Amino acid sequence: MIRLLQPDLYVRSLCDIPLAHLKARGIRGLIIDLDNTVTEWGRATLDRGVRRWFADLKEEGIRACLVSNNRSGRVKKVADALGIPGISRAGKPRRRAFRQAMAVMETEASSTAVIGDQVFTDILGGNRLGLYTVLVMPINSREFIGTRMMRHVERLFTRHLPVADLSGYDKRP
Ligand SMILES: [Mg+2]
Repeated sequence: MIRLLQPDLYVRSLCDIPLAHLKARGIRGLIIDLDNTVTEWGRATLDRGVRRWFADLKEEGIRACLVSNNRSGRVKKVADALGIPGISRAGKPRRRAFRQAMAVMETEASSTAVIGDQVFTDILGGNRLGLYTVLVMPINSREFIGTRMMRHVERLFTRHLPVADLSGYDKRP
């Protein structure tokens, strides 16, 4: 069980994930969480760094799909703004939405990574399917009360996790 809660990579933010690192692992598609991974919780504003990171993805031919447990309006708004597909009310850590996303991106488990800020939804769901999992630190501490409670449990796992030193990688492959 504990193994299923461990990410393959732990980084500060989405923009810190070097695409060269993903490509070297054969990753061609990314399942990306919305709240506190791409935007602040409950908001739809995208900062410039995030937009650029998504533009780099496209340039590198890496596909992406937003997969969020949140309701559809915001997921669609952000997905449309980024020009990628989005799946809302995903029910993570259930596997259904992850499989759906892989079908949309036409990727396999071995060529798909999950990126998210929560161990019990994003990382657990990804690991259950044998995907490469990347945990990011939440953008902001403002979030859903249920999530805030889970953070206490989550910290038991994340406080010992080393944050990856990716300074050796070029951010732009
Ligand atoms: Mg999240």
